[in-house]
Amino acid sequence: MIEKSYSDRDGVIWLDGHFVPWREAREHILNQGLHYASSVFEGERAYEGRIFRSVDHTRRLLHSAKRLEMDVKFSVEQIEAAKKEVLDRSGLGSAYIRPVIWRGSQQMGISVGNADIRIGIAAWHWGNYFSDKAKGIRLTDSPWARPPANCAPVDAKAAGLYMICTLAKKRAEEAGFSDALMLDHQGNIAEATGANIFFLKDGVWHTPTPNCFLNGITRQTVIELLRRSGRVVIERTISPSELGKFTQCFITGTAAEVTPVSEIMGHSFRVGEDIMSISEAYGKVVRMPRVNFADALVSGQQIAADGPLV
Ligand code: PMP
Repeated sequence: MIEKSYSDRDGVIWLDGHFVPWREAREHILNQGLHYASSVFEGERAYEGRIFRSVDHTRRLLHSAKRLEMDVKFSVEQIEAAKKEVLDRSGLGSAYIRPVIWRGSQQMGISVGNADIRIGIAAWHWGNYFSDKAKGIRLTDSPWARPPANCAPVDAKAAGLYMICTLAKKRAEEAGFSDALMLDHQGNIAEATGANIFFLKDGVWHTPTPNCFLNGITRQTVIELLRRSGRVVIERTISPSELGKFTQCFITGTAAEVTPVSEIMGHSFRVGEDIMSISEAYGKVVRMPRVNFADALVSGQQIAADGPLV
């Protein structure tokens, strides 16, 4: 089934400080965001009417903009208020929120001196990121590696960095896989095309150090949940030659949430109870009625009252 185009839907979009009808949130083809990837964005999920770790996402959005040297005229508080209103007006309890900041049409070429900085926020319903989430997804390799930190602002959620992710994902899907495992420039395991990755070996979770890719907000949440439940999580360099030694694997991301992986490049992993309980714990924490995630985590008593997290 072909989904209705994202440009042809009902609702409103927040654009440069004002609400406009969804179909009128248009942009001229001559803009620097489109031509030169002068664009940063966020991907956030709301559960039961609340955006999970909303402030952290807004801070990352402004951090990404700063890394691209964009002078954004809106503060964290203003963007927070706008996101909340976008969500409220969408009428959706569970939604995906997409803030985006880009250089507009004031200027063309690579020089950005007089560029106008645009900002928009939209919300829509987005179910499971992977259709085969429950049984575990299969990953293939990627001919594209994550660039090193001196080749791109790798800690920014910048549109330009998604060119390689899109290429890797397209190739993987065409070959019948759900996603691709991306290596870093030194040939070590980095992440999936839109999510971070974790592996289990002898009761210990291992995850690559985020030195050339996003230290995902979901990744940080899951590490915290695992450690609070007494599990050991090691952040380190992981070689693909170790794949055969791991018994379970999952990926994390706002869209992907906690998604088990059943296979990577011919290596099979068990979709075990460990992952299911992490996924459940994550599902619980994102729905906690807390405005502030820091409070939510500290409220261990509340979670612990329901039994161990994972
Ligand atoms: N890496 C990439 C390339 C991503 O697109 C995402 C999704 N934003 C992540 C990791 C995970 O980040 P988060 O958990 O903050 O959504």
